[in-house]
Amino acid sequence: MTENRLDTILAQAGNRNNHDQYGSVSTPLYFSSNFRHPSLEEVEASDPHSGYSYSRLSTPTRDVLQDTLAKMESGCAAYAVSSGMAAIQLVFSLFKTGDKIITSDDLYGGSFRYFDYLESHYNIQFTKWNGTDYDELQQLVSPDTKAIWLETPSNPTMKIIDIDKVANILHTANPESLVCVDNTFLTPVYQQPLTQGADIVVHSATKYLSGHNDLLGGAVIAKKPQIAEELEFNFNTTGVTLDPFDSWLLLRSLKTLSVRMERHTSNAQKVAACLSNVPCIEKVLYSGQGGMVSFYLYSEDKVRQLLDNLKVVAFAESLGGVESLITLPAKQTHADMTEEARQKLGITSTLLRLSVGLENPDDIIEDIVSALGESLGQENPSPSPYANIN
Ligand SMILES: *Cc1c(COP(=O)(O)O)cnc(C)c1O
Repeated sequence: MTENRLDTILAQAGNRNNHDQYGSVSTPLYFSSNFRHPSLEEVEASDPHSGYSYSRLSTPTRDVLQDTLAKMESGCAAYAVSSGMAAIQLVFSLFKTGDKIITSDDLYGGSFRYFDYLESHYNIQFTKWNGTDYDELQQLVSPDTKAIWLETPSNPTMKIIDIDKVANILHTANPESLVCVDNTFLTPVYQQPLTQGADIVVHSATKYLSGHNDLLGGAVIAKKPQIAEELEFNFNTTGVTLDPFDSWLLLRSLKTLSVRMERHTSNAQKVAACLSNVPCIEKVLYSGQGGMVSFYLYSEDKVRQLLDNLKVVAFAESLGGVESLITLPAKQTHADMTEEARQKLGITSTLLRLSVGLENPDDIIEDIVSALGESLGQENPSPSPYANIN
């Protein structure tokens, strides 16, 4: 039988699994932290008849979730962990002191904070690449480059990286090097890095995968069994696991991922096109897919005015949920970077990042425009959905 298409994998997440004796269509939620053994013989054979012993190692509801996560990203195995940062930490458990890692230069702020820590405490050596110049990447890579870590589109300035090209450069220099992609922004609905040469995909499941601003979670998906084995050892040993209830909530949320992403995209296209016609907005950055739109205002006064007067969009960190959220990266997600590093990347005090939710797009647009004390400028007769992309 051929593998089902992504929409079907998602909608059917957890249906027909091995863990329900009654044929329940919704996956059962097993809270139990441990599982009874019928005999010592079974323990000696390391083969518990239920398949379970202790839930840090494995537990049915999380297993069903992990099956879905692996399938949706075309991986061989997936690990559901307690946050996006826990997912990143799990991947970095593969590396050793002295290892050389390249990262793209525009990442989630927390990733940089963690990488700085790894550099100062474990002497892991990080080099930044600007994410656009592939000749430069070629020069940065050497046969002892262990991995590259990237996000595309980048956060918050929406630069696009060609994963295929990066994987090709890395694997030519060192076939064992790992191409790791944080796929939080586009999700497998729009981008499946493992089919483009990447070796590991990471998600903050707190964002689009869960989609309802009600849980903290993460996922690591591996392409090859050898990497999966090492990840699994560290997953079990360090205990970064996702608990059963959040596993169940996340599984439930995945069922609607593809429809949510489609609506995030159509809303964001409309919002991006309209905002680019508002006089006090200098520039709009949008990749064309997904719900993340960044924009620059001409003045800092307007930033304050906007954030103080929004009535529909919430001024709150995070992204990817049904409710629209707006953040000021320089003061929030990227506050730990130096001012110089932020300026270099264009993360200025007038750059805002909007996570376009699933409300009626006209309400989102009207909310922003009226909070700015503006009206929509000259209506563009056929607004491009890819408004002013960089
Ligand atoms: C939020 C986020 C993370 C961190 O995830 P948490 O669930 O908050 O730990 C990592 N990468 C990206 C792109 C994110 O947006």
